[in-house]
Amino acid sequence: MHDGFGLSNLPYGSIRRDRASPPRLCVRLHDEAIELAAIAGDLDVDRALVDAPNLDRLLGAAPTAWTVLHEALRARLAEEVPAHARVPLAGAIPYLPFTVADYVDFYSSIEHATNLGRMFRPDAEPLLPNWRHVPVGYHGRSGTVVVAGTPIRRPVGQLPRPDGPTFAPTERLDIELELGFVTGGPPTSLGAPLPIDEAADRIFGFVLVNDWSARDIQRWEYVPLGPFLGKSFATSISAWVTPRDALEPYRVAGPEQQPPPLPYLRDPEPWGLDIALEVELGGETISRTNAAGLYWSVVQQLTHVASNGAVVRPGDLYASGTISGPASGSEGSLIELTQNGDRPLTIAGEERTFLLDGDRVVLRGRAGDVELGEVAGQIVSSEQPASSGR
Ligand code: CA
Repeated sequence: MHDGFGLSNLPYGSIRRDRASPPRLCVRLHDEAIELAAIAGDLDVDRALVDAPNLDRLLGAAPTAWTVLHEALRARLAEEVPAHARVPLAGAIPYLPFTVADYVDFYSSIEHATNLGRMFRPDAEPLLPNWRHVPVGYHGRSGTVVVAGTPIRRPVGQLPRPDGPTFAPTERLDIELELGFVTGGPPTSLGAPLPIDEAADRIFGFVLVNDWSARDIQRWEYVPLGPFLGKSFATSISAWVTPRDALEPYRVAGPEQQPPPLPYLRDPEPWGLDIALEVELGGETISRTNAAGLYWSVVQQLTHVASNGAVVRPGDLYASGTISGPASGSEGSLIELTQNGDRPLTIAGEERTFLLDGDRVVLRGRAGDVELGEVAGQIVSSEQPASSGR
């Protein structure tokens, strides 16, 4: 089977060859990283864009430069690549592929929003009245976005108890399976919205996101302003950013939107993405779903963010919110998969609800012959020394 990292993909990453080497902007070709600085002379592009530690310069360039580079790389890498440009991924060290500017997390899966509504407001309509009108979201913490593989330290926080809160390690550590995108191009002007027919051009590429969540901290703190420390302790993204061009063949119509959104959010173009997704815990697949089911598209998300005149910058990360499907076993979080802990999963013969120290979670995504960079993370105890988070 195709490994999903052939010439039709060529995702970008920031890779150190070994501990003694600096990070270099690379593309992934099968099980190797190709250092772009080493082949820059063969590419008809501005050398400064590719002779770089990561994607930051390329993200700041005009979107037309991205397509030119992607095409040039496809042509160049179809030929023999010199040994000094090739880095075997086994033993290489991934860094964050870009400096995360702002980080926004949406709530774009109608199934996820409905599932949580049923759990937490059992006597009310599960979907809040604004949900089908507004792509609901919040601003997250860009400084604690980490690259896949970074250990996740169990956070400590305020946990609700019948006789008042205590300050202790979370007992309800969860995952959130999400699809993220990174923007590029010159920053938009303060006060200038991004019309929906221009928003797609700002999307450089896609990553999988695990928005780790401490449900007990979250439940206590989220009223009335929304998610805060129950989310901000760590958010993991793929080491590889799949360029938008690579996913172009997998664009599909999204779900019908009823009632129709307000005019500024009406997109004549189909921006659903047919990406099969799965979650692995303890070596077993515990969920399978597809990004095509997201109610609000990536283009609608970005248009909404800029609709009040807020600035969109290169390196902004926008995540979809947990992606859940309609069927049992297609939910993108443990709180849904286990009905808030009431219906444990059986993994390797053991009953399981929320994450334990030592658990390893892997998110995967694939569209045809394009594999997204996986997002693995292992939980370490709150007593462990903190990691650098790179
Ligand atoms: Ca989330």
